[in-house]
Amino acid sequence: MRVFVATKATQGAHVHDRMDGIDGELVWLLEPCRACWCYPDGRCTCGRMFSGLSSLRETSTAVVSEVPGLTREDLERAMRGFVRARRDLFC
Ligand SMILES: [Zn+2]
Repeated sequence: MRVFVATKATQGAHVHDRMDGIDGELVWLLEPCRACWCYPDGRCTCGRMFSGLSSLRETSTAVVSEVPGLTREDLERAMRGFVRARRDLFC
């Protein structure tokens, strides 16, 4: 299955690049807040960062990668775990 994974490969190409996640982990794009819609390069980073499904940390760079053996059910399980972990952390 082809999915987005975090990568360090192009870190530094953009002034706002940051890699706090784990190289190669599954990532997801969250819905940007209102401030990020208006000012994508502003103070808030949610509109330009991927969230690591394992680390819950952000990275600005990701790549589409084939992950052998990964199934849709695996991805759904990872996403559910990510949502639960974020809820426990932030709510
Ligand atoms: Zn934001």
